[in-house]
Amino acid sequence: MTPFETVIGLETHIQLNTVTKIFCGCKADSWFDPPNTNICPVCAGQPGALPVLNRAAVARAVLLAAAMHATLNPLSFFDRKNYFYPDLPKGYQITQYDCPVASGGYLDLPLPGGAVRRVNIIKLHLEEDAAKTKNVGYERYIDFNRCGVPLVELVTAPDLRSADEAAQYLIRLRQLLRWLGVSEADMERAQLRCDANVSIRPTGSTELNPKTEIKNVNSIEAVRAAIAHEAERQMREVEAGRRVQPWTLEWDADAGVLRKLRAKETEADYRYFREPDLLPIRLTDAWRDEILSALPELPLERRARFMTQYDLPEYDADILTSERSLSDYFEQAVRAYGGDPKRVSNWLMNDVLRLLNERALTAGQLRLTPAALAEIIRLVDSGAINTSTGKALLEKTEASGEPPAAIVQAEGLARVSDDAAIRAVCAAVLAQNPSEVASYRSGKLTLLGWFVGQVMKQMHGQADPTLARQILEELLRSRL
Ligand SMILES: [Zn+2]
Repeated sequence: MTPFETVIGLETHIQLNTVTKIFCGCKADSWFDPPNTNICPVCAGQPGALPVLNRAAVARAVLLAAAMHATLNPLSFFDRKNYFYPDLPKGYQITQYDCPVASGGYLDLPLPGGAVRRVNIIKLHLEEDAAKTKNVGYERYIDFNRCGVPLVELVTAPDLRSADEAAQYLIRLRQLLRWLGVSEADMERAQLRCDANVSIRPTGSTELNPKTEIKNVNSIEAVRAAIAHEAERQMREVEAGRRVQPWTLEWDADAGVLRKLRAKETEADYRYFREPDLLPIRLTDAWRDEILSALPELPLERRARFMTQYDLPEYDADILTSERSLSDYFEQAVRAYGGDPKRVSNWLMNDVLRLLNERALTAGQLRLTPAALAEIIRLVDSGAINTSTGKALLEKTEASGEPPAAIVQAEGLARVSDDAAIRAVCAAVLAQNPSEVASYRSGKLTLLGWFVGQVMKQMHGQADPTLARQILEELLRSRL
């Protein structure tokens, strides 16, 4: 059997999280609103209505382009893409064609084993969304709320080599979009949409073979599954001596199968021409600088810095930079703690992340501040409380918003390391269990652990176990 490699390019549409639409003042996000409630003559395509550009949409597109290392174009234009379809009230879509807001760029994907896959971007432009259509029986319903919602279309070169890499690309893209705050990037809400172009070729070859396009995949898992299925199907076709036909396919996630939508049409003639109702976008130096002043340290840069500056394993750095507020939280906690950053990382990854998941919060929303976390770790380090009390204290601090030390004080959580107090309980335990004491004395020395357990139980876990063990041994010996 010939060894094949898969060649994948992804086309994504990203819904920018502006308050209003791209060319009118209608509310952009209609997810919770009834159909056709956020529309006006501009986005519904009434004759004579004129579009006005929303600068916030341009700013978000420019920020994203800069984060993807693209060249920002000082002058770009809007164009009309003409086609007739019920979801397009004007009969054309306003998009960018030959002079988009940015050109080039790439997104690097860290691969297992330290390698990096560079995915080049061949298209990045602004455009308006079309309406949403829904078929019910023989009727078609159209919701124009989505008309005019700002989108960035982002198309990669065929640089991805497996279904896993395609999934990685979407994970990293989603991470970047949220990190920059330009899109909520929720695939289930169609804020991030993906079509995949898939072909195969003998490994080592550089030619590009006929590809199929998979449409309407609305989760990262679905993208991975659909591409894996399609690559296998194409290999079976080629092994059987048939040619791969350039079909358009649809992924049915419930059935786990691909369906042929249509034979791929030749590129339609959209008769693009410059949009006459809008001025070009002039990205002046001053505006560009203002936008880029909001460009943060990027997730992969921060991930690399966490590994060198804090000496964290790749695994920790990856998780801690999965989301921006979590990575900020980590750094603030490390600063407040002043000790080993790995210790802060362990507390964050084991206990704080569980708290976040259970309560569906981001790190920035916690009442348990980074300083409070640092304080709890220091209380455990100093022996003032034991580890399990520390974990419980996390929850209590989050629930009450009180400083950890105050909770320890108020609830009497501090570990008892007072010799006399523990001694009294040890003596009582021995007095209450004469037959165990007799067994111990006749040589069953493993019972010592059981005695320690009894003391801890009576003192609600707050006794210093090392001290309790010493005192018990001493008392058992002395009575021999
Ligand atoms: Zn409108």
